[in-house]
Amino acid sequence: STQEQTPQICVVGSGPAGFYTAQHLLKHHSRARVDIYEKQLVPFGLVRFGVAPDHPEVKNVINTFTQTARSDRCAFHGNVVVGRDVTVPELQEAYHAVVLSYGAEDHRALEIPGEELPGVFSARAFVGWYNGLPENQELAPDLSCDTAVILGQGNVALDVARILLTPPEHLEKTDITEAALGALRQSRVKTVWIVGRRGPLQVAFTIKELREMIQLPGTRPILDPADFLGLQDRIKEVPRPRKRLMELLLRTATEKPGAEEAAPGIRLAVTRLEGVGEATRAVPTGDVEDLPCGLVLSSIGYKSRPIDPSVPFDLKLGVIPNTEGRVVDMPGLYCSGWVKRGPTGVITTTMTDSFLTGQMLLQDLKAGLLPSGPRPGYAAIKALLSSRGLGSL
Ligand code: FAD
Repeated sequence: STQEQTPQICVVGSGPAGFYTAQHLLKHHSRARVDIYEKQLVPFGLVRFGVAPDHPEVKNVINTFTQTARSDRCAFHGNVVVGRDVTVPELQEAYHAVVLSYGAEDHRALEIPGEELPGVFSARAFVGWYNGLPENQELAPDLSCDTAVILGQGNVALDVARILLTPPEHLEKTDITEAALGALRQSRVKTVWIVGRRGPLQVAFTIKELREMIQLPGTRPILDPADFLGLQDRIKEVPRPRKRLMELLLRTATEKPGAEEAAPGIRLAVTRLEGVGEATRAVPTGDVEDLPCGLVLSSIGYKSRPIDPSVPFDLKLGVIPNTEGRVVDMPGLYCSGWVKRGPTGVITTTMTDSFLTGQMLLQDLKAGLLPSGPRPGYAAIKALLSSRGLGSL
């Protein structure tokens, strides 16, 4: 059939998930055409607007993505918000298959009093601000305070802490925005507390980011040795990567101790841990600790949003329900990346899962499970957009 000759496929979102899915489809099907729709004017998602400016080596994947975009069977259409400018059913009409790779655009809220106060931001917004994400350019964080508190202990928390503490002359060499650089030059922030509910064994950051933090010029790590009591023995049992991370933390805690005096500021509940392994929970002890600070950044995770009423969405897990990338009960609809697995994992994790989605789609195509007959692809969407007074780039 014609479909076998030219499968028309579209991908929603141009981050790593969108590009790696497109790459797989183009590589393993010699005639497939892939259109990538993106709400921003420019491609690459969090590689452009998330990855820290002092991690240029991570951004090298942009070269691979650009190769994909250069294929004459691939097109990038920026400035199209799927779910608003064009619906998912409209895309399904125009294409044989649709892949949703729109990432996690929201942040998880703390849901505690004070979250809306001035000086309290999500790390997502702060990251968007220093990376030039258009919607965050008005953030204007007040950096005239001495101390910032980051809630959460993942790699994003360390990125944010590092950007706050890196000498501006080092950031000058990066592609951080001029506005952010200007604000950071004026910054008075000297101390950054990185707060977690659980203990050192449960931190979510990785050793590379920890090492960068410990070695930051002009900065001294402050770890409370009391938090590490009894851990020496327990780390023998944990998997090797975490063991190495723990050893570095322990070494740092014992070599460079020193807790600082705290005057009132943010109030933290002191917790103790219950349970073992992944199920370890933090339970409030009833004690509180006050930390002085003028800036609070909550860095407890990103969150995907539903894109279109026609697409199932698991609000609790924040993902599109799927089996290996096939959206449940929606033939011809697929997903990849953070919206498929939830907002964790590095770019290579996203690559692996996007290749898998691409593989499932091609299997379905081969098995004749996708609509037959030709599909108009972009021509139909272009007409729809212009009938609405909209245009893509
Ligand atoms: P995204 O990269 O978010 O891409 C989704 C795309 O979809 C975006 O371009 C978005 O604009 C678009 N979109 C959203 N909604 C719509 C819509 N309605 N219509 C059209 N388009 C839409 N990984 C590393 O390996 N190294 C790092 O150093 C690193 N640093 C990170 C720093 C931060 C702050 C964050 C948040 C993540 C970092 N990661 C890093 C993880 C990495 O960025 C993710 O694994 C990866 O970007 C997820 O890819 P994705 O394509 O699912 O999502």
